[in-house]
Amino acid sequence: MRSVRPAAPQLAGLEPYDPKYLPACALLSANENPRDVGEKLRREIMREVARVPLNRYPDPLANDLRDLIAEANGLSREQVLVGNGGDELLFDVALAWGGPGRTFLNLPPTFSVYEANARLTGTAVASVPRRADFSIDEEAVLARLAEGDVDYLVITSPNNPTGALAREEFVLSVLDATDALVVVDEAYFEFSRRTVRPYLAQHENLAVLRTFSKAFSLAGVRMGYLLAGERVVRELAKVRQPYSVDAVSQAVARVVYENRAEFEPGIQSIIEERARVAEGLRAIPGVTPFPSDANYVLFRMEDASSAWEALYARGVLVRDFSRAPYLEGCLRASIGTPEENDAFLRALREVAMGKCDVRVPSARTTERADAAEPRAD
Ligand SMILES: *Cc1c(COP(=O)(O)O)cnc(C)c1O
Repeated sequence: MRSVRPAAPQLAGLEPYDPKYLPACALLSANENPRDVGEKLRREIMREVARVPLNRYPDPLANDLRDLIAEANGLSREQVLVGNGGDELLFDVALAWGGPGRTFLNLPPTFSVYEANARLTGTAVASVPRRADFSIDEEAVLARLAEGDVDYLVITSPNNPTGALAREEFVLSVLDATDALVVVDEAYFEFSRRTVRPYLAQHENLAVLRTFSKAFSLAGVRMGYLLAGERVVRELAKVRQPYSVDAVSQAVARVVYENRAEFEPGIQSIIEERARVAEGLRAIPGVTPFPSDANYVLFRMEDASSAWEALYARGVLVRDFSRAPYLEGCLRASIGTPEENDAFLRALREVAMGKCDVRVPSARTTERADAAEPRAD
C-alpha cells in the first residue's frame, strides 16, 4: 500500500492542540510560573532523581505521591489520582464518563481541551454559553441538567481564559441537582485560594482537578492530580494509561510537593501583581480587563489581533483569543515577574496610544517582528 485509510471519523474536524508558543523576552502566553524552581530545591530534586531506578517500571499509581497529596487534603490515598498533567486526567474523565451515546455539558468560553476530549471520545457536547461578562448562566445550566441526560460537566474555577471563580453556592446547587460527574477544574486554585474540596465529604459526584504546572513551576514535568470519591477514582484508574506518570516525574513532584511552602512568596507576588496589571490595563484608553482570580488577565480591545502582533514585535508574547468563539477582541496576558509585567504594560500603552509604527530600530526587534509573521491561528 502507498496510502493509508482515513483515521477515525471523530478526528475529522479537530486540530492538534497548539499553544502558539514563540520565543520572546516576556513569555506571558501559557500561564506558567515565571519563576523556575529555586536552586536549593533543584539540588534536592537532582539528589532524589539520582536514586530512581531507571530500568524498573514506575509505581503505576504513584502511591508515595498520592499519600502526600491525600494527607495534605485530609483524604485517603484511594481518593487521589495523579496523571501526566491535569490534561491526562481530563481525558480519562472523557473516556470513563463520556463515549458514544453519552453527553458532556460545556460552559464556553472555557478551556478548549474539554470539548476536544469529548469529540475524540465520541461524546455528544451540549453547551450553555456564559453571559456577556463571562459569568456562568446558572439558571440555564441547572435547567439543562434537569433534562437528565448530561453524564459529566466541568466547572472551571477560576475559568480559563476569562479569569473569574464560579460561585461556590452555584457549584453546590449543581452537585445537589444532578448525579452527573461534576469536575471542578481548580488548575489555578493556589492563586484564587478558594476550593470546593470540602464538598467531597458529602458529594460522591464531585471531582476536583489540580496541577503542578502553574503555581508549582512544573509545566515541563507534566504532573496533575484529581481529588474525588473512591468510586470515581476507581473508575478513572481503569481507563488510565498504566505508566503515564514516569518515575522521574514522581520523584520531582514528591520533592516539590513536600516543599510547596517555598512557592508561597512567588504566588503572593503574582496575586499582588495581578491587581497592579489589572489597574494598569484599566488606565489604558480602549482596553477593558475582566476580573481575575488566577495568574492571568483577559482583556478586550479594538484591533486586538494587530495589537498582538505589535506586542510581539516589542518582545512580549501574550495569547491571542481575538478570533475564538465568544472571545472576539480578547487577549490574555499571564502575570509574570514585575519586570515582565512592566514591559507588557509599557508595550501595550504604546500600542493602544497608536504608536504602532514606532519601533526600536535594533536587529533583535526586527528579527522578532519577522518571526511573528508565519503564525497560524
Ligand atoms: C493548565 C490547565 C490545566 C492542566 O494543565 P496540565 O499542565 O496538563 O496539568 C487544566 N485545566 C486548566 C483550565 C488549565 O488552564
